[in-house]
Amino acid sequence: MSNTRNRFDHINHRIKQAFENSGRSLNNPVTLLAVSKHHSLDKIHSLYELGQRNFGESYLQEALKKINQSSYSDVIWHFIGPIQSNKTKEIAQNFHWVHSVDRLKIAKRLSAQYSGPKPLNICLQVNISLEPQKSGFTISEITTAIEEIMQLPNLAIRGLMAIPKPTDDFRLQKVAFQQLRELMQQLNEQFDLNMDTLSMGMSGDLEAAITEGSTIIRIGTALFGPREY
Ligand SMILES: *Cc1c(COP(=O)(O)O)cnc(C)c1O
Repeated sequence: MSNTRNRFDHINHRIKQAFENSGRSLNNPVTLLAVSKHHSLDKIHSLYELGQRNFGESYLQEALKKINQSSYSDVIWHFIGPIQSNKTKEIAQNFHWVHSVDRLKIAKRLSAQYSGPKPLNICLQVNISLEPQKSGFTISEITTAIEEIMQLPNLAIRGLMAIPKPTDDFRLQKVAFQQLRELMQQLNEQFDLNMDTLSMGMSGDLEAAITEGSTIIRIGTALFGPREY
């Protein structure tokens, strides 16, 4: 528990520090998303007790087990993993946010299978570093896809998500995050959208991400310790 508390305090301190250094407006805060994949419900509970409410999961079966076993009414569950099309229904029915929408087909299925009172919050995943093995829209693909996704009735396109190629170079980290921020700006203008979310930054690059306007930081190991399974 004290380990969890220390890690939680440490990450929040880094976020606060980076936020202050960036000179960003307080109206545009950063949300810490605790990535609980391969961590037990007990650990989720410990963080919950400390006030954490946003949790991210990547593997559907594992996530559903935890969601069903927990009785929290105020946890916001985010799906951040790769999406197979036969899993969209359960994702749409069990999560508040989906960060990893990476193809038009997935967006169409999520919209068709979702039935909540408010639209499902989604981010479009962008393959910002153009790595061949990574999922995500390329910049040219997203411009075509977004016009169709905008027409889908049950989705709120909240923003963009990326997992840039890892590097220790702060300047290179910033370049990728800046590209994502500028892409969102450009798409907002071009399509008259109101995207407000940049899901970018992990434990090794959260400072660069916050400097470039990240609104959701996704942290796993640095909060929970090594993954358990
Ligand atoms: C696992 C994961 C994270 C967190 O990674 P850690 O190394 O555990 O901090 C963040 N984003 C995505 C998309 C992930 O799959």
